Amino acid sequence: MQLGSDRGTRWVVKRRPIGAFAMKRASSPIPTSRHSASPSAPSAFSGLSCTVQPTIECFTLGPWATNCYLVHDTQRKRCWIADASFEPEPLIDRVRELGLVPDAIVLTHAHLDHIAGVRQVKEAFPEATIWIHEAEHKWLTDPVLNLSAAAGLPVTAPECDRVLFSGETVELGGENWEVRHTPGHSPGGIALVHKKTRRAIVGDTLFAASVGRTDFPGCDPSRLEKSIRKQLYTLPDDTLILPGHGPSTTIGREKASNPFVPGR
Ligand SMILES: [Zn+2]
Ligand SMILES: [Zn+2]
Repeated sequence: MQLGSDRGTRWVVKRRPIGAFAMKRASSPIPTSRHSASPSAPSAFSGLSCTVQPTIECFTLGPWATNCYLVHDTQRKRCWIADASFEPEPLIDRVRELGLVPDAIVLTHAHLDHIAGVRQVKEAFPEATIWIHEAEHKWLTDPVLNLSAAAGLPVTAPECDRVLFSGETVELGGENWEVRHTPGHSPGGIALVHKKTRRAIVGDTLFAASVGRTDFPGCDPSRLEKSIRKQLYTLPDDTLILPGHGPSTTIGREKASNPFVPGR
């Protein structure tokens, strides 16, 4: 189900969430508005024209309603994928429908809900290489580290082809993306920043009116706040934030109203 679009971004929801990966504050309920589908929302991909390139399509997949992103340039026919959750068939089908060849599957972090579909995507597109921050590359093949054993849904992904380091600029789909290391929710969390169009794919670090949970093994609340302040709140206020769960937001909006990490 499509939930609207902003700055060349399309949203498709396949599952309702059964759990939350965001922090909750009792006195201020977190809005679940746009990703909790409205019955009157239009069908996926209808009547949209995306003039901003690259186009980013969001597929909300699996039992934790994880946002997985397909980033593509319709003219160059190149694409890459950020995160692959459970049951990634709609994403795979869309890549085939558009006649794209993915360069890479880039992982914002290696929690189970962001990697469970990597093997299936890799099997569909064997040429796609798997990228992840150096701090979590071993999590891909270890169900204890990626929390899938504890969740009772043990998953592994193929080993990575490339480890990422903070501050490097990588070429994906013919465009430059900056890698920012954002530990806290997990040690190897990253944000992928497209400076030219002021869009950032941030995984589970920052959400609309919330931040990533810090009660899992490997979490660190003080590092999370530092990551948000140093790596995300330093981006221009109109930077569109594409999170791992829930609706998009902007840096300016979160600096003004995020109840967990208010801007100073
Ligand atoms: Zn996570
Ligand atoms: Zn998640």
